[in-house]
Amino acid sequence: MPIQNPNNHCDGHIIHCMDYRLPKYLYPWVVQRFGYDNFDTTAIAGCTLDYEMLLKHVQLAVRVHTVDVICIVNHEDCRAYGEAGTYERHQHDLKETREKLLALFPHLQIETYYLHLDGTFEKVL
Ligand SMILES: [Zn+2]
Repeated sequence: MPIQNPNNHCDGHIIHCMDYRLPKYLYPWVVQRFGYDNFDTTAIAGCTLDYEMLLKHVQLAVRVHTVDVICIVNHEDCRAYGEAGTYERHQHDLKETREKLLALFPHLQIETYYLHLDGTFEKVL
């Protein structure tokens, strides 16, 4: 199979929870957004719940694939968060994560979403 992207660049990096209920919504959405062969994916239990792990993946994606856009997706009923995972807590953590990443990578476009389990992506600003 030929190398389709010899520059080792992709536009997007989607970071989301490991939850089995998400891929049926996440992958059609991200493929439509960036196209096949044009995004990195990272699954972390709780997503923003583990900022250090999330940061490691962002650093790597920036270094090896020169990504431009990071999409961070938390979701409804996240079992990694458990009882602490209220709607307000997810909003807070998404905003805080975005601010911390922008301080380190001001050139990146960082988008944050709260995914409802009916498949609705709510943008969090
Ligand atoms: Zn989760």
